[in-house]
Amino acid sequence: MMIIPKASKLDSKQIKEIEKIVSEFDCNILEIQGHNQCVYAILGDETHALMFKRIAGLSYIRKVDAIESPYKLMDRRSALSDHQVQVGISTVGKDSPFIIGGPCTIDPNEPSLYIDTAHALKEAGVNALRGGVWKPRTNPYSYQGDNKAIEIIIQAREETGLPIDVEVMDSEQLTIAMEAQVDILQVGTRNALNYSLLKEIGKLSAGTGSGVLLKRGRHVASPNEFIAAAEYLVAEGNPNVMLCPRGTTPALDGYRNHPDESITPLLKNRTWAPVVVDPSHSVGHAEYVLACSLSAIAYGADGLCIESHIDPARGIGDDPKQAITPKRMKELIASCREIWAHRYQVKD
Ligand code: PEP
Ligand code: MN
Repeated sequence: MMIIPKASKLDSKQIKEIEKIVSEFDCNILEIQGHNQCVYAILGDETHALMFKRIAGLSYIRKVDAIESPYKLMDRRSALSDHQVQVGISTVGKDSPFIIGGPCTIDPNEPSLYIDTAHALKEAGVNALRGGVWKPRTNPYSYQGDNKAIEIIIQAREETGLPIDVEVMDSEQLTIAMEAQVDILQVGTRNALNYSLLKEIGKLSAGTGSGVLLKRGRHVASPNEFIAAAEYLVAEGNPNVMLCPRGTTPALDGYRNHPDESITPLLKNRTWAPVVVDPSHSVGHAEYVLACSLSAIAYGADGLCIESHIDPARGIGDDPKQAITPKRMKELIASCREIWAHRYQVKD
């Protein structure tokens, strides 16, 4: 159940009064700060009719929502439905596609490759920089990441003014990323259904303004399962969630994964959260990234997360095979904007 006050937020006296009521029913409340409106989730066994009535009767309460949904907060009908995700100066999905770009992996031994890529991508028009500091590698003997790389991406943020996106896989990495005030915490496909990690991220990032880019589980998380995973983040207090389809397994012969940008409208019909598609891991080859990106925007995506490197052959991780150059990124952004503009002209 969700409590929605008449004002944009409850004052401390009102919170105390509600806490007193819910505690009689062994429940707690959690404040969730939306862009315009705070909502208060009731945690615990929230089905008591008397509790519902007493809260709904308070003069400063607009309504108590009891929508039937497996994801009450992420649901399109929830009180957060007008929540907009803000990253740096961008409102995701507002005026143009929100583009995250950067190498798969930051090479700690070649910082200038990352920094030069960041500048070139800023010039190309991206809205945020990505870069793997710690990497989930299928092969345990492949490069696993290095704490030093966080310094490099922080330097890139300082020099370009662009927000940064970094994947975290455990509490230790999360702590380092939070200390660095990473703007977007990325949850990769391998951890997409790791509920303990999702809860921890939601809790620690609540109220910090950080966004979370949640990839879709590659083992074909259904749209509902995907949205429910995001619900864990929001229910712990961080509504700045972006859903990221990135291809599923089994792969389509010839692509790295089975491209899934086509689920975008299904997600957008069910939830208010922006959809930021990752074409790079989906198709897995630089030459197909443009087509997948255009398709994602045509399907209604709010943004894209694309691997890009100034010199892909010198990159590590996925970069040699799937990163596009900043020059191609610039062309891609222009083409995506054309589709985007057209999308809003279509009338029935
Ligand atoms: C990545 O973004 O480099 C990555 C590892 O992505 P995914 O979790 O989608 O494989
Ligand atoms: Mn990658």
